Amino acid sequence: MKDCIFCKIVNGEIPCYKIYEDDFVLGFLDIANDAYGHTLIIPKKHYDTMMTCDNTTLSRVMEAVKKIGNHYVEDCGFDGWNILNNTGEDAGQSVMHMHIHLVPRKKDDKTIISSCMCGKFVCNSLLKEITISPFENKPDLAQVCNVLKMEEKPKAVLDDGKCHVLYTDGACSGNPGAGGWAAILSFKGKEQVLSGGEKETTNNRMELMAVIKGLENVESGQSVEVHSDSAYVVNAFLQNWLENWQRNNWRTSGKGEVLNKDLWQKLLLETKRLNVHFNKVKGHSDNDFNNRCDALAREEIQKFND
Ligand code: 5GP
Ligand code: ZN
Repeated sequence: MKDCIFCKIVNGEIPCYKIYEDDFVLGFLDIANDAYGHTLIIPKKHYDTMMTCDNTTLSRVMEAVKKIGNHYVEDCGFDGWNILNNTGEDAGQSVMHMHIHLVPRKKDDKTIISSCMCGKFVCNSLLKEITISPFENKPDLAQVCNVLKMEEKPKAVLDDGKCHVLYTDGACSGNPGAGGWAAILSFKGKEQVLSGGEKETTNNRMELMAVIKGLENVESGQSVEVHSDSAYVVNAFLQNWLENWQRNNWRTSGKGEVLNKDLWQKLLLETKRLNVHFNKVKGHSDNDFNNRCDALAREEIQKFND
């Protein structure tokens, strides 16, 4: 969302001290630096408050809260944590992009749960009881971040440094209906995540779009291994349907018009520019990359329901 500070952090327009990141959630240090390790956990997608946040996103955020909290205890020497969420301006929310505050705690620490974190209605006498001393000698946030940040999960090395690896998936709610596509492109250990959606489309069109968009991001002349769970897309290449369709002037063997000709032609252009090999993967199984693409594509559909 334009003009939202946290969206700008998600987009990289404003820097942050990143602690954790996955496809849907970002965790970073609060610049207030008012308690050691004070972390904000936010959905990458903009929701003003928890009131309007969809439940799938909310569970993803809470899963990340638990992961980060457990990391602080298991790997960083903390004993527990507090979480807090301000929902609505009247409850003390100052940044209107839903977020959870997480403060790691140590036995007998002198952390203040500050009023800025607890909203304006927190009882001051209660605060005094749990407040022992001000947070003095504020540490450098960059150093705190180095100590606390979670190691990026070692990415499976997908490519051999010569060949790009592309995972894709498409999804549709109704046929036709709102649809989404996603592509994860890996080259030299670096990953590019792309996704998009359309209000009125079909599952096959989204499967095709995912591959087209992924390939569009590869420089001409390069080799790409495409992994898709769409028999429609993969078999068109592996079983020579495309060659037959072109030979028959985009007519099927039953003389009907080939569906999605516009997208097939785009995809053909990409395959001529590159050296592409198609692989069929089993959908909804234990392939992490296929599962991530599926979740990202479904997230795009959700945007039309919000
Ligand atoms: P709220 O009062 O809305 O629950 O909490 C918003 C939090 O966001 C505050 O604790 C504030 O310090 C933090 N914050 C505001 N702007 C930024 C920023 O640009 N970067 C970071 N890291 N935190 C911010
Ligand atoms: Zn936002």
